Formats: sequence, structure tokens, C-alpha cells
Amino acid sequence: MNPDEPEDDDNTPEEEEWQLYSTAGYAAAEDPWEDLVEVEDDKEEEEEWFDGDDFETNGQTLDWDSPPCPAPLGIAHMIRLGTCNHCLHRVGGRRTEETGEKGGAALRAEAFAKDKELESFEAPDLCPLCENLFEDVDNIVERIVEETGELDHGSLQVGVHVPKDLIQEEDRIRTRHAAPGSRPLKAAFSEAVQTGVSARMDGVEFVKERPDLMILIDCLTLRIDVDIRPVFIYGRYRKLDRGIPQTRWPCRACRGRAEGCEACEGTGLQYPDSVQDLIGEPFRLVLSAEDTSFHGMGREDIDVRCLGRGRPFVLEAKRPKVRRTDLEEVMEVVNSNASGKIEISDLRWTNRSEVSRIKETRAEKSYTIRFSIEEPPEESFIVESISNLSGVTLEQQTPKRVSHRRAEKKRKRKVVSIDNVVVEDNEVQFSVRCEAGTYVKELVHSDEGRTVPSVAGVLGSPCEVIWLDVEDIHAD
Ligand SMILES: [Zn+2]
Ligand SMILES: [Zn+2]
Repeated sequence: MNPDEPEDDDNTPEEEEWQLYSTAGYAAAEDPWEDLVEVEDDKEEEEEWFDGDDFETNGQTLDWDSPPCPAPLGIAHMIRLGTCNHCLHRVGGRRTEETGEKGGAALRAEAFAKDKELESFEAPDLCPLCENLFEDVDNIVERIVEETGELDHGSLQVGVHVPKDLIQEEDRIRTRHAAPGSRPLKAAFSEAVQTGVSARMDGVEFVKERPDLMILIDCLTLRIDVDIRPVFIYGRYRKLDRGIPQTRWPCRACRGRAEGCEACEGTGLQYPDSVQDLIGEPFRLVLSAEDTSFHGMGREDIDVRCLGRGRPFVLEAKRPKVRRTDLEEVMEVVNSNASGKIEISDLRWTNRSEVSRIKETRAEKSYTIRFSIEEPPEESFIVESISNLSGVTLEQQTPKRVSHRRAEKKRKRKVVSIDNVVVEDNEVQFSVRCEAGTYVKELVHSDEGRTVPSVAGVLGSPCEVIWLDVEDIHAD
């Protein structure tokens, strides 16, 4: 935000601005996993039949006429292909006392007992269905337990990236030879990992959406990434002091680099305080989070107070190691640390969808505004002229002060009501309620005729805004 930010709570989304100044613009907070294929929805079911691409094992073309599992010949065929015990169990289609690798071992022993030759058959070492991926399950489970042990979490989601050619090959073999309804590789692998993790950690729950922790396993590199999902807190803030920007504002001289510069005394900040940090820092500490993002229902200018019931906001705490805390306690810490500057209330836990709601809500707002007038006319004329603006629709050309970063356009905004017009010598104060997105200072001084009608216009004398307070945001 700039010091000349419109004080009008303009809710028009401005991507550019968010990305520049928000610590992690909402726009940038895209889900890095969104391209992830849901494990359960593994539907790469291209029907693919014999294509002449014969498997050759020990110089012999395999007999494609062998029946699929669970027929004993089908199982024997899978063994000859080099299928590992894990995969044998999942494609065999036979009930065994044990599952997973042990289940497969049982099927293998059974097959060997039926066909002695099978045992001496030199099958390939690498399982064609999984390339021995299941051998890594224990190792992967171990690392997941290590990496998540310190974290507070109730729910996990596992995502698995399997190389595409392996998936295709596995699917091809499974389609022909596996028992109907066999679990595909990805789902089976994910399940094996989940079973392993559940056995090692108490009370862990696996979910398909909105997990606390997202675990991505890359089966090619065996790399594991743990994505700690943010937590969201809704509340309302009152800004009692002028000179505090809503979001953290990087130093202009050094562009907010971590070590700062002389101009910002090493803080990296243009202003030491921001609503974001006055609220966010106590939460960041309590939740052991890396950073915060602040989403307000609109915003007020740096020199504008926000009173009344306060402005709704959602605080996003990123990569929190702790996910739950007593909101009342943190609220007291915030309110006592920021005493005289800001005050928060109505806290509750929420989720990302409320961020969109907050950003999209276009609420009417009430303000008190005070201005000076160069040549004040009669008091009664002032009161009557200003009161007569109640109910008018303003035509507002993009103010000059923001025109360098906003498209030039004309908007229409309604003045819902005006009252409490008070005249004191050459200063005038009044209350106004208007539509979301009204440029309120311009309503007074007219921005050189770019806002019509205006207070300066009806009074026939230049007016200068002294201060402005948001009295209420008519939402929630
Ligand atoms: Zn296998
Ligand atoms: Zn600096």
C-alpha cells in the first residue's frame, strides 16, 4: 500500500498490489498440490489389448493365452514375470490370511507347491508392476514419522508421484493379467505407506481434503515433502491510531530485504507497526508459524482510523508447528501489546474459503470526516448543502493520487446518507454512509472536479480533509 492509498475500502482486487506488498499475496497462495492426481481417483483406464509388444523372458515369448488371476495359471504367470510379493498379493485376487508382502509370499508358496518348476524359473529381479517400489515403504514411513513427529497435526493426506511410464506399464500388465478389481499401483502404494504410518503414530487420521499436513512422495527420487497447511483465524480489528498501515510495508529504500538498511534501521520496514504484525506476530509466536498473511475486508488508508465494531479480517498463519491455541489468551496478548494502536475481537478459527468471502464482500461503510474550508459561507447554508448530498449518486473519476496504478475510469457510487453536520469556524465535520468503493476524501474536496457532485462544489470553495475515521463496516 502506498501512503496515498484510497481510504475508501476499495474492495476491487488488485493482484499487482497484493503480490507486491502482501507478505504472500493471496494470489500467490495457490495450492502447490493442485496438479496432484487424487490417489483414489486413479482412473487411467485406457482399454488396451494385445498390441504385439510381447514380453520376453529367458528368450521365450510368454503365453498370452494364460488366464488372468486369480486362476492358478494366472498367478504362475505373474510369478514368471517377476512380480514381487506385494504386487502378487494386490493383483492375485485371492484371499489370504495376511495381507501385503506376507499375503503375496503365501500365494507364491502355494504356487510353488503346485508347480515345482516355477520355483526354479529365473524370473527378472525387478518387479514389472512396481519396479520394487514397495521395498522402500518402510524407509519412507520412517522418514515421514521423523519429519512430522515434532508437528502438531490431526490429519494427513498422502500424495504420490509415480513416473508415468511405470504407471502405464503397470496398467498394461494389470489390465491383462490381474484379477478383476485389483488396486492400481499408486493407490496400493499410498495405502501401504498409510498403513505403515498408522502403525507408528497414534491417532493419525488420513483425509482426502483439507489435511493439516500434506505429504508428497516422489517415487522416482524417493523425495518426501511435508507441506504444513496454514491455519486461519477470523476476527475484527479496530485501528485506534493513525499512521499504521494495514499490511506489512516493506522499506522503500531496500525493498524490505531481511537485513534491512540504514533508512529502516535494519527492520526492512517502512513503518515499524502494521495491523498485520500487531495481530500476526503474537499468533506467529504461539503457533510457531513461519510467517503470516493478512486478509482484510477492504482496507483503510494509513492515516485513517477504523472504529465501531471494527473491520473483519482473516489472519493466515503459515507452516505452523502448533495448530491450536486458546484464542482468548492470544487476543489479550495482542490487545495489551498494541494498546492504543489496535484492538481485536470476535476471534474464531476458520478456513481458506472465508478469505474469499472476506475479499469479495462489498459492504457499505460509515465514516466521520472533518475538513477545513477556505472561505466558509453561512453556517446554515453549509449544513443544508452538505445534507442535500444525502442520497445522491456520485460520479467519480479515478483519483489523481491513485491514477498511476489504476486504470482511468469513471465509477458511480451512492451516498446512502449524511448526518451530524457540525460547523466550527472554518472547520466542518459530518457523518456519511456510502456504498463500498466510494472515494470518500474526493467526495469532500472533489479532486479538481473529478468527483461530481462534491462538498467543495456545493459550497463553492476549496476544502481540505483533516481526518477521516471509518465508523462502521456494515457486514457480518
Ligand atoms: Zn511389485
Ligand atoms: Zn530498508
